[in-house]
Amino acid sequence: RRSQIVEECEGLMDQPEQIRNIAIAAHVDHGKTTLTDNLLAGAGMISEDTAGEQLAMDTEEDEQERGITIDAANVSMTHEYDEKNHLINLIDTPGHVDFGGDVTRAMRAVDGAMVVVDAVEGAMPQTETVLRQALREGVKPTLFINKVDRLISELQEGPEEMQERLLAVIHDVNELIRGMTEDWDRDWTVSVDEGTVAFGSALYKWGVSKPSMVATGMDFGDIIDLERADKRQELHEQTPLSDVVLDMVCEHFPNPVDAQPRRIPTVWRGDADSELAESMRFVDEDGEVVFMVTDISMDPHAGEIATGRVFSGTLEEGQDLYVSGTAGTNRLQSVGLFMGGEREEVSRVPAGNIAAVTGLKDAIAGSTVSSVEMTPFESIEHLSEPVITKSVEAQRMDDLPKLIETLQQVSKEDPTIHVEINEDTGEHLISGQGELHLEVIGQRIERNQGIPITTGEPIVVFREAPQTASREVEGISPNRHNRFYITVEPLPEDVVETIKMGEASMDMPELERREALQDAGLEKEASQEVETIHRTNILIDDTKGIQHLNETMELVIEGLEEALDDGPLAAEPVQGSLLRLHDARLHEDAIHRGPAQVVPAVRQAVHNALIDAEIRLLEPIQDVRIDVPSEHMGAASGEIQGRRGRVDDMYQEGDVMVIEGIAPVEEMIGFSSDIRSATEGRASWNTENAGFRVLADNLQPDIITQIRERKGMKLELPAGIDYF
Ligand code: GDP
Repeated sequence: RRSQIVEECEGLMDQPEQIRNIAIAAHVDHGKTTLTDNLLAGAGMISEDTAGEQLAMDTEEDEQERGITIDAANVSMTHEYDEKNHLINLIDTPGHVDFGGDVTRAMRAVDGAMVVVDAVEGAMPQTETVLRQALREGVKPTLFINKVDRLISELQEGPEEMQERLLAVIHDVNELIRGMTEDWDRDWTVSVDEGTVAFGSALYKWGVSKPSMVATGMDFGDIIDLERADKRQELHEQTPLSDVVLDMVCEHFPNPVDAQPRRIPTVWRGDADSELAESMRFVDEDGEVVFMVTDISMDPHAGEIATGRVFSGTLEEGQDLYVSGTAGTNRLQSVGLFMGGEREEVSRVPAGNIAAVTGLKDAIAGSTVSSVEMTPFESIEHLSEPVITKSVEAQRMDDLPKLIETLQQVSKEDPTIHVEINEDTGEHLISGQGELHLEVIGQRIERNQGIPITTGEPIVVFREAPQTASREVEGISPNRHNRFYITVEPLPEDVVETIKMGEASMDMPELERREALQDAGLEKEASQEVETIHRTNILIDDTKGIQHLNETMELVIEGLEEALDDGPLAAEPVQGSLLRLHDARLHEDAIHRGPAQVVPAVRQAVHNALIDAEIRLLEPIQDVRIDVPSEHMGAASGEIQGRRGRVDDMYQEGDVMVIEGIAPVEEMIGFSSDIRSATEGRASWNTENAGFRVLADNLQPDIITQIRERKGMKLELPAGIDYF
């Protein structure tokens, strides 16, 4: 059967109208894995009986153990709809927000996202996150409401109650979609009547949609009767879930020919009139090769596998392809498709498909790979920045080279992980999205690579940001021949957000950047003089006609970047500052205004200006949601309040109480075991990174001192910091 499917897939690869590239995305535990297994069983790739138990997509051992999906695994399958066979390339996405980077990357490769929502729990925080990630990438959503069997058997709901509940879920999801697509000309809300909503039970393998109800003549009452009478097998045979869902996929998700003309302008900023642009818009398999890598994984036999979307041309073994951000080319060693966790080699993969190739040794997740040098795709936005760091050391000195190699591999596979390698001390730092994220990475190093490691306590990543406008401050070079005059003021919050989201960057055309910055609230004049953007800080050049400044600007920027990477308080990254270079004195002779002079002078000026602008430490915070039976409500809310947190809302939802609030990431370390013991294990909970906020003034000196101590800096604060 398997080889037959491979053959069928190969036969369909050249017919982009019959291809659907899709992702299934959901809040953790809402049933994505069980649904995916249904689809694989429906396509004959795993047996019907084991679907749901086999968890075919969770290939990594730790995923099976934890019961959550971590890597975005991929699979291709076929489905007959409207008398035509279709090729469906499915990308699985992680359900935990700690792995948000993978979801964002998966969305770049697909044109449709099936959002799975648990009928009992309704839309949850990560439902919102995955929807946002999909809409931002121009990916069309549909909705599958899962676990409807529980409404019937457990909650004993009748047809009206059930209908009301399903409508409430649809309403909530549509509110989210509307909120995210204000200024769009298309309506991507979902509706039962249009057939963009299906519901059912992934566990018992039945599903229903408007078209399937029309076709079988069934109504809510019939479904309830069959489910109650335990005639689920019968339900499954009348309306099998995989058919209902895959019909919806074929009917409502755009094929590459429809999707690419709309998506290319949003993900690629190269010349829209070029031949290359045309070839991508028209999914031309004879055009130049353009392949966007969305995922890198390690295969013990084949080595490094790069998975991604072919936007143009045809991938074939032996091609020499450019990899964005690197010099030279890599040779493709093999080309394949993913079939249920396994890679099947094929001779070629044309435009419009998801391919899995080997040989791209320089590619990382996010690379643009092409047969001609080209403007790379827009960098894939990551919705959250790393907020937590752990040190990692090999227990055996002999393992050091292998550990370094593994850490480099990890950061290639998951760009939301930042790795700092220190070959001298052997103590390396990995930063990620949360405690669980780093724990999983640590386990992979130990188990998959067999390297015993020692990890340090998790350390929270802080930021530094100016609070007021500074006076003009001078920075003087060591030889005293060069001087820089700089001011700093806080950037409007919307500007910071716009930069964070990648909506204003130095890689985009100047006019577009200006517009984005002005829309976010930056003064027109400032937006026209942007010299550089570093992290979420902007440098404006306010000088006029200073000799030699142009040729020195590169060094000025270097000094600025150094100053902003290690802020004056505790060498944490600086965010949200608007820096203006007002004036400069430069030595006539280039030899006296080299890097050793200019860089420290600028760094000093920037730090002094930041201090004059009353720079403060910012700490990362998380939104926290706890679902708990009412008798444990007090204990659960106490767990938020006791962590310098704030409870914003408490309300009843079904048979549980929901508590919503925020708390600092630092205080949330160890939360999972504390909440378990405080509520006898009856609480389920979620956290989501919610940016940074200014740390209370009375805590600033202590925490600054702790960080400085940890980093081996001198404990005395730089002169001028007396405002705490
Ligand atoms: P994921 O985290 O979204 O991949 O969720 P899973 O597919 O692993 O499902 C989470 C849990 O819900 C598992 O224990 C499943 O057996 C259960 N589950 C999934 N679908 C259904 C369903 O339709 N009905 C019921 N009652 N349980 C389900």
